[in-house]
Amino acid sequence: MREDNMLTIIVPCYNEEEVLPETVKELGVVLESMISEEQVSSNSKLLFVDDGSKDKTWELIKKFENQFEYVTGIRFSRNYGHQNALLAGLTTAVDHSDMTITIDADLQDDVNAIPEMVKKYHEGIDVVYGVRNNRDTDTAFKRKTAIAFYSLMSKLGVDMVPNSADYRLLSKRAVEGLLRFDERNLFLRGMVPLVGYPSDKVYYARKERFAGESKYPLKKMIKFAMDGITSFSTVPIKLIMNLGLLVVLIGIGLFIYSIVQKINGNVVSGWTSLITSIWVLGGIQLICLSMIGEYVGKIFTEVKKRPRFTIQEDDYTKEFLK
Ligand code: UDP
Ligand code: MG
Repeated sequence: MREDNMLTIIVPCYNEEEVLPETVKELGVVLESMISEEQVSSNSKLLFVDDGSKDKTWELIKKFENQFEYVTGIRFSRNYGHQNALLAGLTTAVDHSDMTITIDADLQDDVNAIPEMVKKYHEGIDVVYGVRNNRDTDTAFKRKTAIAFYSLMSKLGVDMVPNSADYRLLSKRAVEGLLRFDERNLFLRGMVPLVGYPSDKVYYARKERFAGESKYPLKKMIKFAMDGITSFSTVPIKLIMNLGLLVVLIGIGLFIYSIVQKINGNVVSGWTSLITSIWVLGGIQLICLSMIGEYVGKIFTEVKKRPRFTIQEDDYTKEFLK
């Protein structure tokens, strides 16, 4: 058992008024029992990060703050997205916590895995990944695309723990290591393995969303996947080179073919191959351009060094200053 055991559970919330009461209840039960078993210190916290919700999320957080000693919250000035909300939670909590756990607000991640994660922390592990052992609640489409995504990422050389999302425990030094990554395009599940330190996994069954609907529609999911790929790997740029070589080879083949046709006297035929190659080449050029554009766009957002979030209210830090 480690002496330093102040835990902050970070919960990003975007328009989660429907689930929040249940989330506070379930996380509260887990936290209280861990406090009574002295697994975590009595000043451990549930930190809700309101990511610019438009519904009553912040009012609810305030209400629960008054009701429960361990509930506290920070509020963004606008919606900055899930990854930035997690980052803000970690940045705010790191000075006061010995360990942090990040978990979604919608109770899809089984809260019973939390004590297991804490147990691993006491065994000296710095990073404990929550890994889902089933994907029954996902649609067949989401399952297939997820498998394809993880295998693509591993082919691109990005070390990720398959089927782990943003449900994980980080020790203080792991959080400090993570916060030294200064990038704007956040893809935390790719960044955490890069921090290093001893790590382990805890398996859990992923459930249906308790209430409300997903804040990750297909469009956001595709953007997230693209961010993951282009923030972590330059392999797509190298692929352009290979593609170019292939196109040149095809061009040489076509050239030889047309010479043979000319010798045989079939001169006028050629329109079909011409029009085909124009279209094929045009398409390839567009793909390559968009790939380059993707990286240029990344450089653009990185060099601007815009703030990754703006906190409007911070009850968490206030509490420690009291
Ligand atoms: N979330 C957030 N900001 C956003 C979108 C989502 O803080 O812009 C939070 C959301 O409240 C939830 C978590 O991120 O706690 C995961 O979102 P969701 O459950 O909608 O994603 P899914 O599980 O469908 O992938
Ligand atoms: Mg969810």
